[in-house]
Formats: sequence, C-alpha cells, structure tokens
Amino acid sequence: MAGAGKIRRIGMASVQSHKNQPDPNVPHPLVPLIFEESVPGRRGIDLAPREFGSRPAADLIGPQLCRDSLPGMPEVSEPQVLRHFLRLSQLNFAQALQFYPLGSCTMKYNPVLNDECAGLPGFAALHPHTPAHLAQGALELIAELERALMEISGMDAVSLHPAAGAQGELSGLLIIRAWHQQRGHPRHKVIIPDTAHGTNPASSALAGFDVIVARSGKKGLLEAAEIRRLMSDDVAALMVTNPSTLGIFETEIREIADVLHEHGAMLYLDGANFNALLGVAKPGDMGADVVQFNLHKTFSTPHGGGGPGAGPIGVKQHLEPFLPLPRVAKGPQGWYLDTNRPHSIGKLRSFYGNFGMLVRAYAYILALGADGLEQVSRRAILAANYVRERLREHYPSATDEPVMHECVLTHELEKKGVTTLDIAKRLLDFGIHPPTIYFPLVVHGALMIEPTETESRQHLDEFVAAMEQIHAEALEDPQLLKDAPHTLALKRIDEAMAARHPILRWQPKK
Ligand SMILES: *Cc1c(COP(=O)(O)O)cnc(C)c1O
Repeated sequence: MAGAGKIRRIGMASVQSHKNQPDPNVPHPLVPLIFEESVPGRRGIDLAPREFGSRPAADLIGPQLCRDSLPGMPEVSEPQVLRHFLRLSQLNFAQALQFYPLGSCTMKYNPVLNDECAGLPGFAALHPHTPAHLAQGALELIAELERALMEISGMDAVSLHPAAGAQGELSGLLIIRAWHQQRGHPRHKVIIPDTAHGTNPASSALAGFDVIVARSGKKGLLEAAEIRRLMSDDVAALMVTNPSTLGIFETEIREIADVLHEHGAMLYLDGANFNALLGVAKPGDMGADVVQFNLHKTFSTPHGGGGPGAGPIGVKQHLEPFLPLPRVAKGPQGWYLDTNRPHSIGKLRSFYGNFGMLVRAYAYILALGADGLEQVSRRAILAANYVRERLREHYPSATDEPVMHECVLTHELEKKGVTTLDIAKRLLDFGIHPPTIYFPLVVHGALMIEPTETESRQHLDEFVAAMEQIHAEALEDPQLLKDAPHTLALKRIDEAMAARHPILRWQPKK
C-alpha cells in the first residue's frame, strides 16, 4: 500500500495494491472517511439559534432531550461534504452510469420523470400522519395503483403495503397460513423448486413453514407430475417464479395450479420476473392465489442499495380479508385508511409503505399505458434472446427452451483455470456491471444475464464484444483475468469477511 494513503484521485484508472485482502483496519485510501476529514471547529453551515419562536428548545421538549454537543460528528465544510459524497458516488456502479445486466434484478433505466412526480410538493411533503380528508389525492393514487396492478396481474385485490419483494413473499405466506388456519386445518409445508430464489425458502421459514424441494425436470421446467408426487394434506402452498430463474416459462403452470387446488393448497407466484409478463400473460390466469410485484424491478422504481423498496401483493378474492393493514377504502366521506379488518394479518411495517416509490411506479404505468407495458416485456424478451444467440458459440445456454427476459449461460473456461468470477471481474474493466453469477444453483458456473428493454442494440453489441474478448483473453492469458479488475479503485475484495466482520462504526485512532 506504499504511498496509497496520499492518493486522492478518484476514478476508473486509480492504481491500487496487489494485495488481495485489504487490511480491515486501514480505511479505503482513495476516499477517506468523512470523519478523517474532520477539523475541530470547522463548520459547514450556520444554524439559526436553537430556539423555536422566542422559546428555547429546552423549554419545549425538556432539557434532558437537548444535547450540548454531538459527540463523534465530523466537523467539515459544505464543499467537503459535497466532494466526499460525489467521490463516493463515482466509486459506484449504477444503472445510470453503466450497462447493468444483473440477472433476476431487472436493472432497467428508471425514468427521471418518475422522480419529478414523486418530488411534487403535494406528495413529497405529505406527512404520514396527515388526516385522510387532507390526503385524498394520495389515497386515490394508492387505490389507482392497486387497480392498475390488479389489471396487470389478473388478481382480485392488491395491497401496496410490503416494503420489498421478500416482505411481499412473507406477507403472502402469512396470508396463506391464516387462510388454512381459519378453515380449521393448519398446514406446515411449502413446496419450492430447486431453481428458486433464495428469498423463497427464507420467507417460508420465517412464516413458520418447512420447505420441500421440488426437482425441475429435464428441460429445467417444473412438472405437474413432480408436484403431484410431493402433495399431501400438510402442503400449504407451492412457491414458484414464472418465468423461472432459468429465464424460461413454466408451461405446466396451469396444470400445477389444478393439482394444488385439488389438494386444498395454494399457488404462490413469485412475481419478481414480471418484466417478461406485462401485457402478455397474467398470473391470475395461471391459477395463482397470491403474487408479489417488485416495483423496483419491473416498475422502474430505483433499487435503493438497501433504501426504500416496495413489494405489493395481489390475491384472489378468497384471500382478500387477510391482506395487511391498513387498506385504502372509499366511504361516504371519501378515501380513508381502513384498519377495522378482523382477519387481516396486521401491519408489516410503518404506515402504508414507501409512498414515494408508489408515486414513481404509478407515473411509470401511466406514462407507458397498456401498449407501452406490453412493449416493455416484448422488448425485454427480444433483448435476452438476442444476447443468448450472439453469445452461443462461447457461452452456451443452460437450456434449449426459448428464454423470456433473461438467459442463463455457461462456459468451459474452467479448463483454463478461469472461473465465472474471473469473467465477472474482468467485465468491470469494460465499464459493464457483471451479470448475476453462480445462480441459479442448478447450473454449474452460471452467468445469468438480464439485459432489460431499456438498452439499445448498440449497447447489447458492446456487451457481446466484451464477452467475446474476455473469452479470447482467457485462452491467451488467463492470468489477466485472474488479476482483474485492473482499472478499478478496489480489486478482489474478501466478500465473506466484508459480510461477517463489517466495520459499521468509525473508531477514532488512539
Ligand atoms: C429479487 C427477487 C426476489 C426478492 O425481492 P427483493 O425485493 O429483493 O426482496 C424474490 N424472488 C425473485 C425471483 C427475485 O428475483
């Protein structure tokens, strides 16, 4: 790390140490922590005297709630703050900066218009405790978005309450559990195919179910015969993504739904892959009893790096009474939030969800309309099939079935000592975010590519060219790939250590 601490240049071409594992006690040298920039007494802005009107704050809220100082806060100027966060942002990969074909995540362009709408003062400044009669527009927007999602999915009722796809899954499973309980026959098992997204078994466990794994058939598809084989009267539901995580359409889904219903079980359809279905197929028609929508995937609200998400759920009529609280309803006085619903599974989060996300998704749906949404899916499917065909020679597809909005590819470079991770890391040098890798688990060394509809053919061709070049490099100079990325501030990071021993609090040096 010689001299690295002095480097302040930020950008793709910064030179970095060759050590694979950064010392966890040494902060990233290219962007000092804002605490390290701190100079005692430096001020960014002048705050007005700590008073409200003529009364000191201590009189209003009590002296025990007022601090004399803020220990541990960085003391920096306003330009320092701006530079610090702008630098950090430039170390990031973002859909707004690069092609981002991260399979299963639908990293499409998020129209700026959505942000404009969400920033309108009537929406952005609305306090969550605003009484209903002063928030009629917002409540109506919620009801309208629910209606749009009902139409898109073919479900009978929608709740926008859950905060993410995974929380939508949990809500849906709690609803299914409550339904079985109400019928006097609690059930304990959920069937999940071996291609499933990791959140599916996790949500099932959280909702108190044991998981039974269904094996996909030869074509990578789930077969009704397999579900029939696993059925018992202790099975509460099947949880399945359609299209599956292999990017292929589950053609036996209707028959599978019939098998489930014959046995009094429910079909939970994980709708994270809705980008392939808009205006083309409806989970409601496939026999789904519950579906979740990932607004941050299909409906172009930002993937917030852990920030606000939204994972609405849709249900068929028999499950409507169980939807989470509150429900937006209309009475003689107009729209209101209904909490008087005795069968509801209750609240899963504060208020009514991440309202700003709901405004963005609504703006997106209105801007595109029915025709536009159908175009979204048709073009997303075209893009995935185009990439798959163009890469076929060196990166064969994991399945012969036509793909939907994403394709799962493999390769034979392991013979050269080159792994999927090496390919992914090398793509960063081309300014391309890697695809999802090693998932689904059923495909060895998988590269799961989801180009989305918002990339032009030119960008898809650039991606194909990068993948071809990487293949050639792997044959000629595998070490080049093993050492990649060469152009980023950080090289290979010890991801297990980052996850197991995160440093979440800055400690001043003694
Ligand atoms: C993304 C995804 C989820 C989880 O959604 P989050 O919003 O990330 O919680 C579930 N299932 C599938 C198939 C997904 O792709």
